[in-house]
Amino acid sequence: MKLNLQKIIEAPGEIPFSFEMDMSDTGIYSIISYLTPVKVKGRVVNSVGVLMLEAQMDIRALCRCDRCSKEYEDRKKLKISAVLSNDPQSEENPDVFMLEDGDSADLGEILRTKFILEMDTKFLCREDCKGICPKCGRDLNEGPCKCKPDIDPRLAVLEQLLDK
Ligand SMILES: [Zn+2]
Ligand SMILES: [Zn+2]
Repeated sequence: MKLNLQKIIEAPGEIPFSFEMDMSDTGIYSIISYLTPVKVKGRVVNSVGVLMLEAQMDIRALCRCDRCSKEYEDRKKLKISAVLSNDPQSEENPDVFMLEDGDSADLGEILRTKFILEMDTKFLCREDCKGICPKCGRDLNEGPCKCKPDIDPRLAVLEQLLDK
């Protein structure tokens, strides 16, 4: 999806956009599959001479919990903002996305990059997921396992020391 920004490069104004994109090739480990294409809605605005891309992405996906590995359906709304520029001096700045041909933005490319960065956060089936016991593999959301009392008291002391 390319957006021509010629109208607002030299003049104040904004250009809205909305489209859907396929993110299945982004390879985010914790996303097993997308339930729908990712919906994107936003605008590019020239505010005081700076081109800002503002967008919201609506993601519905089957995810894998980082703590307990359980599959769960998630809906995330991701807010994206990025600075666009056609100034060659900005080329070195990693926070700035360069325009193509001087006047258009490859929204798909920009949003994909931002999406990958932003989605690199914890995926949890629920906020307080307790995960699985690394020793016995029990899902601790279903109740405590019997591992804890088995810890060697000397080891417990060591653990306490390491915690500090
Ligand atoms: Zn979980
Ligand atoms: Zn256990």
